[in-house]
Amino acid sequence: MVAASVPAIRSSWAVVQDHSRVFQDLTFVYPVISRRSRGLSIGINLNPDKRCNFDCVYCEVDRRTPGPAKSVNLDQLRDELRWLIRYSLEGGLATQPKFQEVPDLTKVIRDIAFSGDGEPTMIPNFDACVQLVVDTKRELGLAKAKLVLITDCAGLDKASVRAGLALMDADQGEIWCKLDAGTEAYYRLVNRSFVQFDRILKNITETARVRPIVIQSLFLRIHGATMPAAEVDAYCGRLNDIRALGGAIREVHAYTIARPTPEPWATKLTREELEQMAATIRAKTGLPVDVFE
Ligand code: SF4
Repeated sequence: MVAASVPAIRSSWAVVQDHSRVFQDLTFVYPVISRRSRGLSIGINLNPDKRCNFDCVYCEVDRRTPGPAKSVNLDQLRDELRWLIRYSLEGGLATQPKFQEVPDLTKVIRDIAFSGDGEPTMIPNFDACVQLVVDTKRELGLAKAKLVLITDCAGLDKASVRAGLALMDADQGEIWCKLDAGTEAYYRLVNRSFVQFDRILKNITETARVRPIVIQSLFLRIHGATMPAAEVDAYCGRLNDIRALGGAIREVHAYTIARPTPEPWATKLTREELEQMAATIRAKTGLPVDVFE
């Protein structure tokens, strides 16, 4: 069953605070109650090796310990996904202590999301993974469930990723593109990536020229300071650039840190600060902005 209603998900709920990607003995799939999915999201972890080409100051992935697998086994992924979908729909998650606050939310799969412990587009056979998920959701009566890619955008120009995005386009796909900065300097401060900022912007633009995308932006305090006004201007300028170059942005997801970060100086915004940021983005770009505290 796919939900039509949109429940309000509170970041204060323990189940939202707990975004563990480990559930029972599963390696490649996990259930979470997600603010931005507005309910149950089945996560697909394409990076059990924890590889990422970003090193965000707010990243929650513990890279001091090795991941449970070095690569994705497609047969195991298919088996795990089938099992977790059936288990959720049959009410199994609702009986788990982790989901005791929200048993009703666990029976409705809002989306299946490529996310996990790293950057999903780093996998060499992204298109094969998308096809597997498309086939599985059809097989289990979830043809209309949304398929989401949560990406840092560094790999959106790869051939297998483009092929995977085309498969997603035909199957309720949504691409959520991370953009946390407006300048190379702030991008290096927050995302700490070796990938050039220009390449990220180009990839977002090219992807948005093919289908509308969602921009997902995490705003935070760094050593107590919110994003400087000039950076906010630059960030809004980048959004306007993407559209001026023919890219379509469906909406912006503005959110902040929900769980403890490894860098203690990276801290969350207040609800008021986040709302103010969203209002500024709306005013400077005209885009719809959804706030997720
Ligand atoms: S892109 Fe995601 S997985 Fe990679 S470092 Fe940033 S928050 Fe972590």
